[in-house]
Amino acid sequence: MKYRLMDLLACPICKNFPLELKVFTESEIQPPKKITRCELYCAYHNLHLSSNTSTECLKCYSLEIRDGIIICGNCGRWYPIEEEIPRMLPDELRNKNEDIEFLSKWRTRIPDRILLEGKPFSLKS
Ligand SMILES: [Zn+2]
Ligand SMILES: [Zn+2]
Repeated sequence: MKYRLMDLLACPICKNFPLELKVFTESEIQPPKKITRCELYCAYHNLHLSSNTSTECLKCYSLEIRDGIIICGNCGRWYPIEEEIPRMLPDELRNKNEDIEFLSKWRTRIPDRILLEGKPFSLKS
């Protein structure tokens, strides 16, 4: 997924926006010819935007995030990004074993609050 997506993504459960992004692996790709700047929140620059701030968003299109995690600061849920796909699933459609495996695999890159108290699953659940 591109950084650009974070300007659009809200938590599917509590609708909180913007969400927190932590990138584990990413690669440079050819950006499209036409680029629209992020409007509300630019995840690459970690900037909340308003009408009098704007930012350079080339990287928001020219970096492909392969592995990472999306965190909701409101309800404490987390969502994995694997093989470039953000998996924004409701709790009942998630696979606990796969989620625990993901947390273990990337544990050195994931904040403790998610490892210990993340929803719907954590390493303690
Ligand atoms: Zn941007
Ligand atoms: Zn949430």
